[in-house]
Amino acid sequence: MINFNVPPYVETAAGYIQECVQNQKICGDGAYTKKCNEWIEQKTGTAKCLLTTSCTHATEMAALLAEVGPGDEVIMPSYTFVSTADAFVLRGATPVFVDIRPDTMNIDETKIEAAVTERTKGIVPVHYAGVACEMDTIMDIAERYHLWVIEDAAQGIMSTYKGKALGTFGDYGCFSFHETKNYSMGEGGALLIRDEEKIEDAEIIREKGTNRSKYFRGQIDKYTWVNYGSSYLPSDMNAAYLYAQLEVADRINEARIALWNRYYKNLETLAQKGKIVLPVIPGNCVHNAHMFYLKAAEIEERSALIAYLKENEILAVFHYIPLHSSPAGQKYGRFHGEDVYTTKESERLVRLPMYYGLTAAQVDHICDKVKEFYGC
Ligand SMILES: *Cc1c(COP(=O)(O)O)cnc(C)c1O
Repeated sequence: MINFNVPPYVETAAGYIQECVQNQKICGDGAYTKKCNEWIEQKTGTAKCLLTTSCTHATEMAALLAEVGPGDEVIMPSYTFVSTADAFVLRGATPVFVDIRPDTMNIDETKIEAAVTERTKGIVPVHYAGVACEMDTIMDIAERYHLWVIEDAAQGIMSTYKGKALGTFGDYGCFSFHETKNYSMGEGGALLIRDEEKIEDAEIIREKGTNRSKYFRGQIDKYTWVNYGSSYLPSDMNAAYLYAQLEVADRINEARIALWNRYYKNLETLAQKGKIVLPVIPGNCVHNAHMFYLKAAEIEERSALIAYLKENEILAVFHYIPLHSSPAGQKYGRFHGEDVYTTKESERLVRLPMYYGLTAAQVDHICDKVKEFYGC
């Protein structure tokens, strides 16, 4: 059986976790959390990174920092994971969904401006599959309408747009280290903060509304409750597991890219014959091979392909029931403009197995089975 996903693991992790346990340093903001923060700051060039308990929580923190409230509207794609919308719905805001581009499955930047109203407060681009949204256009709209930007870069660590790391364009960027992502700590994420003056507020919100971070740095001699907040810091054991991967991040990234390129090359002839559609990486974007997907003709063909692969012991999956057609999406959000591509393209998409440790021979085998399904 070829699994769809296997969580990333590197051997040094076991020793790092043992070190946390033996030293009885397992709470939040320990040595490994700091190492992860610093690694991400260096790699991305963001002003500050704070490790969190999930990307969902990083997005919640960003919504709190952006002071999102009832009546506010937030523009985002409908083709995304629920967390993108949840963080804002929790604050009483309305997600306003706009259509995606069929080539990258990202929000169609040309449709954002028409969705802006007097209530619009921000834009949440989602960098699908670790391929950047058209950030120049999005940042330009945000500037002209005085909107904040919170990037859902859950899938985007190690990816760039015009040479700049995803998650560093907007006011805030959110990474995920869920077990399905390129780098993992089981459950976890990170909040990237672009502007220095927001760092202290973020630290307070992450530490239950207290100024405990300042206290630990010796900047004040006792800590107290100074604002609203919650508990968004992970155990240092989780950070230790992640740090082991970050130390060899390039190796993991290169392995994934090699698998992705192999899939692409193997399946190119099917695409040329018009049987399937392969992902598009725009010239400005360097991606991280977060996922390899193809598009079948339509939903029945997709179901048949997934079933065929399953019979052959290959687990392929589809995802994202568009949020605007889900029960909560209908209750809390609305779609602006016409759904030309969101539903149609989401019904065609199949994700093939992709993880660190998948072998070239397995990729070849999977591609053979896909070709067999199409009779080629
Ligand atoms: C994985 C993912 C999330 C959620 O990440 P968690 O760390 O599980 O909270 C949010 N948005 C997108 C686009 C994702 O892929």
